[in-house]
Amino acid sequence: MQPGENERVRRIAAAIKSGAKLRTEVCPVCGSPLVEMRGEVRCVVCDRPVVIVRDEAEAGRAMYPYVLSALEEVVVAKLEELTRVLAGAAEPEEVGRVSDAIDRLLAVLRKGIELEELVRKREEQGKG
Ligand SMILES: [Zn+2]
Repeated sequence: MQPGENERVRRIAAAIKSGAKLRTEVCPVCGSPLVEMRGEVRCVVCDRPVVIVRDEAEAGRAMYPYVLSALEEVVVAKLEELTRVLAGAAEPEEVGRVSDAIDRLLAVLRKGIELEELVRKREEQGKG
């Protein structure tokens, strides 16, 4: 059985008093805040060391700017290609088809730019 709330608080407080640093992560087993002592991250409630793994969502968010700028490059290259195709298109049907493709690519580009701005704003908020 897990110790009660008072016991948890008591143990964490005792660890901090003896020089442990409180971490922002919580124990995956009991949800208590983790502490760092002598270079080791521990849950003092479970009384065991905890290995910190960066969560997937966080890792994914860190990748956004790179993924988005790669997407932008690909879309711009495709737009360039399609612009050439459009210039050479004679049949109304072909013009329509190529225009539709360009339209969809522009929508992707716009959403990518919007996302990029969103990520940038969130990063700025994180710093402030
Ligand atoms: Zn724990």
